[in-house]
Amino acid sequence: MKSSVEHNIGITRRDFFKSTTITGAAIAAGAGGMLFPVSASSAQQAAITGKTIKEAARETKVCRTADVVVVGGGPGGIGAAVSAARNGADTVLIERYEHLGGMGTGGLVTIIPAMTDITGKQVIAGITQEWIERLDKRDGADYPKKEHWGSTDKKLVEYYNNRSFFYATGNRVGYSAHIDAEISKCLFQDMMEEAKIKTYLHSWGTEPIMEGNKARGVIFESKSGRQAVLAKVVIDSTGDGDLLPYAGAEFETHIERTMRIANLSFSYWIDNVDLKKYEGYKKSNAKELSEKMRELRKLGGSGGFLTSNLKNQENVVWCFPRYANTCQYDVEELTRVEFLGRKEMLITHDFFKKHVPGFEKSFIVLSNMQLGTRGGRRVIGDYVVKKEDMNLKTPFNDTIAIFPNLDDKNPLMYMPYRCLIPRNVDNMLVACRAFSSDAVINDSFNLIHHCVSLGEAAGAAAAQAVNAGIDVRKVDIKALQATLKKQGVILPG
Ligand SMILES: Cc1cc2nc3c(=O)[nH]c(=O)nc-3n(C[C@H](O)[C@H](O)[C@H](O)COP(=O)(O)OP(=O)(O)OC[C@H]3O[C@@H](n4cnc5c(N)ncnc54)[C@H](O)[C@@H]3O)c2cc1C
Repeated sequence: MKSSVEHNIGITRRDFFKSTTITGAAIAAGAGGMLFPVSASSAQQAAITGKTIKEAARETKVCRTADVVVVGGGPGGIGAAVSAARNGADTVLIERYEHLGGMGTGGLVTIIPAMTDITGKQVIAGITQEWIERLDKRDGADYPKKEHWGSTDKKLVEYYNNRSFFYATGNRVGYSAHIDAEISKCLFQDMMEEAKIKTYLHSWGTEPIMEGNKARGVIFESKSGRQAVLAKVVIDSTGDGDLLPYAGAEFETHIERTMRIANLSFSYWIDNVDLKKYEGYKKSNAKELSEKMRELRKLGGSGGFLTSNLKNQENVVWCFPRYANTCQYDVEELTRVEFLGRKEMLITHDFFKKHVPGFEKSFIVLSNMQLGTRGGRRVIGDYVVKKEDMNLKTPFNDTIAIFPNLDDKNPLMYMPYRCLIPRNVDNMLVACRAFSSDAVINDSFNLIHHCVSLGEAAGAAAAQAVNAGIDVRKVDIKALQATLKKQGVILPG
């Protein structure tokens, strides 16, 4: 039988003695621990107690120095890296997967809802708008015509409502877009190349390099081993705030179970669905369909889906069942939900094919490369955006983004620059859904375009801090706002 130590570290007693024979280096390490060679080729030694191992200090290669290093190539990271580089900062982007876009591509989340306010006036533009315009050139986006935004014409509202749940809210047409995930991946890499951003894909940012409370760079792991990027500003755009614990930054994780962001999702697309047939069946057999969906849920499947809406994709539907969980950045939970999601995907699709008209010849074309994560760590920043801030009538002095709020009384949400700055940490920004906010704010304002906007502000601020040789919390807010406006960001005044 293996001892627990052997079991924990995946090494057999035989291997252990074999390795010590090769180097003859096994010595007692005190406190019940032992020192033994980690690899035959290195002189590294680790102390092992059974519950933890103490890794020996090691030399890590600095593969690059930069002005700004961004960890995470999702919506927040793309906004941050592009904006930093376009403002003159030598920028590095580190992404764990083989593509850019985060949930917006690998998570199969392809809807950018509500870029207009309740009157139909556009309030989110900047890099999100550029992304949609680039997609347009390849028929990769679908949204209501600009001249219709704000219209309350009944026929138009009905037309757009039928096209997409997101195109008309409160009996008014608005600006929301369905986007192509695969084309987006390509466009994002074009944007990196054009801005001369040194990008490392297949690379996990594991910890920030800290000098006291000052961030000095990032360590990342990849097939090339463990390497470091030294930088003047570090931006955490991992979505989950992966760098925060190691930077000594405070963070919050509490989410009420009833909230949207409390759920993980396993997303997949079903193709070759005859949606006309399905819609016809749904219209004349609504009761029967809902009974079937009840039966499906009893079997472990789930019934809801959204349509693609893109040109030539009229047979594709997106399913994204939600999963309660104990923690969205716990590897065991992520694995559990990934396994469960895949099992239930088959249950659902088998049922649809057999019992739901329109799905007879359908097939599962793709499942998410990136499990749907909605809420992880939220940094405690220089300012925590709170539920009450939704009632603000006057923008914050350091407003760096405006988000539409679908509430008649408080139609605009202002985001302050301070919510990107981790309290008590220098040279670091958080530009993703881990921004400093309570759960209510995060639940409403952590969407794709919100994160691009936060990233865009963080990137411009980082470049400004580097140029001026100052900490990110000292940047000139008026100059930052002027830069953002020049980039097409819509701000007050
Ligand atoms: C099922 C589902 C449906 C949703 N529906 C919508 C919707 O319809 N519209 C909408 O706008 N939003 C929607 N959202 C929310 C939205 O997708 C996210 O809130 C948004 O993508 C967050 O952006 P982000 O940049 O913070 O994080 P992410 O999109 O998660 O991107 C983070 C990036 O960082 C990378 N990364 C993470 N950790 C590391 C690391 N340690 N090292 C290197 N790279 C790392 C990831 O691979 C990823 O590319 C939905 C979310 C889910 C899960």
